Amino acid sequence: DGIIIALDGPAGSGKSSTARAVAARLGYRHLDSGGFYRAITYAALRAGIDPDSWGSLTHAQLDTLDVHGHATETGYRMTVGGRDVSAEIRAPEVNAHVSQMAAVAGVREWLMDALREAGARGGLVADGRDIGTVVFPDAELKAYLICDPEERALRRLREQGADDLSTEHVRAEAARLQGRDQIDSSREAAPLRQADDAVVIDTTQLTFDEQVARIEGLARE
Ligand code: C5P
Repeated sequence: DGIIIALDGPAGSGKSSTARAVAARLGYRHLDSGGFYRAITYAALRAGIDPDSWGSLTHAQLDTLDVHGHATETGYRMTVGGRDVSAEIRAPEVNAHVSQMAAVAGVREWLMDALREAGARGGLVADGRDIGTVVFPDAELKAYLICDPEERALRRLREQGADDLSTEHVRAEAARLQGRDQIDSSREAAPLRQADDAVVIDTTQLTFDEQVARIEGLARE
């Protein structure tokens, strides 16, 4: 029971943490779709599959990677070969390669059933790049989160507990986020874009609690 809420936006816009908090307040489950793309990327890197050949990964090869999302009370836990990879999928090496994996149409197709299955009973807050446009085009509420790139970088570095918050370091992180955005929005398969019926929320000047309250409010309308 409950509606489906789709949260999309660029890298580091706070979608996942916002989605998790909104889900907790509504008693919904959180689906971090990026976690699935990250787990596949992690598994392929670990299996030593050359990134230059990812474009031709078959569904059978993807099955062999043994990537699964397990529903929990509050969300989904990712495993590779039966092992929990929640921490590993946030590594810089995965950040650097995930957009290349997510651009592969066959990989997106392979994942679609698992993502849609998560919404089968409603009561879901799903975040990603194409949730409101492709995965759940009929979601009752769609929000598109945007934020200034340097602010996104700063939030991300703080979240990671980085000691170095110098301008230089923040700019380098902003450039990495924008590099991913560039690949995510220019790919052919389900590019990052705002759904026509999405509410755009610029979080640059909002606190975390404000952005959560805003979406929770829209959901309760
Ligand atoms: O949201 P997160 O930063 O964890 O997503 C990691 C990457 O996964 C994105 O940069 C994007 O390439 C891909 N992704 C996607 N479609 C989604 C969610 C994530 O292509 N719905």
